[in-house]
Amino acid sequence: MESENLKDLSVVIPSFNEEENIKLIYPKLKSTLEGLKKSYEIIFVDDGSTDKTYDFLRKICQDDKNVEAVVFRRNFGQTAAISAGFDYAEGDVIITLDADLQNDPEDIPFLLKKIDDGFDVVSGWRMNRKDPLITKRLPSYISNWLISSFTGVKLHDYGCTLKAYKKEVAKNIKLYGEMHRFIPALAKWVGASICEVKVKHFPRKYGKSKYGFSRIGRGFLDLLTVKFLLIFSTRPIQIFGRFGLISIFLGFFSGIVLIIMKIVHKVDMTGNPFLYLSILFFLVGAQFISMGLLGEIISRTYHESQNKPVYFVKEVLTHKKKVKQ
Ligand code: UDP
Ligand code: MG
Repeated sequence: MESENLKDLSVVIPSFNEEENIKLIYPKLKSTLEGLKKSYEIIFVDDGSTDKTYDFLRKICQDDKNVEAVVFRRNFGQTAAISAGFDYAEGDVIITLDADLQNDPEDIPFLLKKIDDGFDVVSGWRMNRKDPLITKRLPSYISNWLISSFTGVKLHDYGCTLKAYKKEVAKNIKLYGEMHRFIPALAKWVGASICEVKVKHFPRKYGKSKYGFSRIGRGFLDLLTVKFLLIFSTRPIQIFGRFGLISIFLGFFSGIVLIIMKIVHKVDMTGNPFLYLSILFFLVGAQFISMGLLGEIISRTYHESQNKPVYFVKEVLTHKKKVKQ
């Protein structure tokens, strides 16, 4: 990352078992970027692929001085891949793009136009999304709505990887777990201005989607964490205390109900199992959520204090040399 190597643009492509797709996206992307008349680099992040993705990347890195590949030791997930791309990028503007041809590289100039207009983050909006309704579009509709209302960042489409960032913003965002979908919210937190641009979307032709239904639950827990970090992380008592107060209130309330049932209806206090059960569930739930949030803070302290990366790089392929890590 020497300073004389600085570029105008870095395009980061997380790639996990996308052998057919990257062969097609590379020339397409290259012709778009050449047309921009800017200096650029394309950074493929090979997220532990087990197909021929690595072989292809090795070849293009040898042939093309504008291409670099960061090769992970194993699959660390799309968020880690994006995070590595941000770390290795040298461009003033960083663009992220899916490897699977669902995004169109030709939309890049439209994103850049908005960056030139002064926005720090430009997010793609897949207006006419070509994914299955039940497994993808419906959950994503709900999650977009939830993220918008939880974080206060009003975007139509958080899940679109096609985004452009000013370098200062991208490099200042720490990503964990599956947080890449919350980058706009995290960016707002560091004071970035954000806008949306409509982009094209295509169905996936080759290879398989890496996500299924389980993403929904995981996404919701991530959303809780983001909300917590955005608002409460500097004063945890506000959230833990609130749970505590609610719990005490419920305990008090159920105590009164119990006494009334005993005095008025002569119902035996010990003979009402559902009451105990619901109190128990509530307390256990509150405990779990609080513990989870505490865990998030601890994990951040752990990562940030030791500067531990969320991924491990096996090698970096470049035109000049193969850099072993
Ligand atoms: N991806 C990755 N690591 C993973 C999962 C996905 O690098 O563990 C990449 C994948 O190769 C693709 C992008 O992230 O370029 C989006 O993944 P996918 O197309 O499976 O997501 P979907 O479009 O189905 O939401
Ligand atoms: Mg896809």
